[in-house]
Amino acid sequence: MKIILLGAPGAGKGSQATKIAKEYGIPHISTGDALRANIANGTQLGKKAQSYIEKGQLVPDELVVGIVADRIKQDDCKKGFLLDGFPRTIAQAEALASLTDIDYVLNLVVDFETVKTRIGGRRMCACGESYHISTYSSDVCAKCNGKLYQRADDNEATIASRLEVYKNQTAPLVEFYQKLGKLIDVDGNKSISELFEDIKVILNGNN
Ligand code: ADP
Ligand code: ZN
Repeated sequence: MKIILLGAPGAGKGSQATKIAKEYGIPHISTGDALRANIANGTQLGKKAQSYIEKGQLVPDELVVGIVADRIKQDDCKKGFLLDGFPRTIAQAEALASLTDIDYVLNLVVDFETVKTRIGGRRMCACGESYHISTYSSDVCAKCNGKLYQRADDNEATIASRLEVYKNQTAPLVEFYQKLGKLIDVDGNKSISELFEDIKVILNGNN
């Protein structure tokens, strides 16, 4: 099962990706997480990517395509994988198509207003868990006791540019995958658990 999660920043790709990966036993590949890990580890790739991410711009295609190409070659991806945050441009989608076939493209559809509120109030834990200030008031993680923090690009100015980039460069992928007959829209305005139920119905072939 090879799946792409498509959707604006804050649409809930990360939250759903964790659940889907666990349910279906496939690796969760997040280019955003991979880039942040490279920045944290001070790699060459991280140094190249950092300024783009901080400005809310896309990291150059060749860098992210390289990450994904290496990752999906690994053994644990033989039975499938879940891509979160990739592809984000037509060029990335074409590069991916030359590497492998995809079974499902789940398009998480949300209102831009919802997305702004979600990202603005998002708090992260190093363990991968995330919270929202409207429903969680502690500053430590309920799972691991880690200290919660705000992602460097989760501020108002950067969010605005990420949404702009989404509209201009990523939204065209909706039509790209529609034409290939792979696109399935899901209502990302629902709660995390309701949305996951909808996704399971699709992936279990009961739609
Ligand atoms: P979100 O979906 O909430 O914006 P991500 O963690 O997926 O968060 O991405 C954070 C940032 O990492 C993006 O704004 C972009 O700068 C960079 N990035 C992640 N994936 C890609 C990609 N496929 N192509 C180019 N840049 C990427
Ligand atoms: Zn944690």
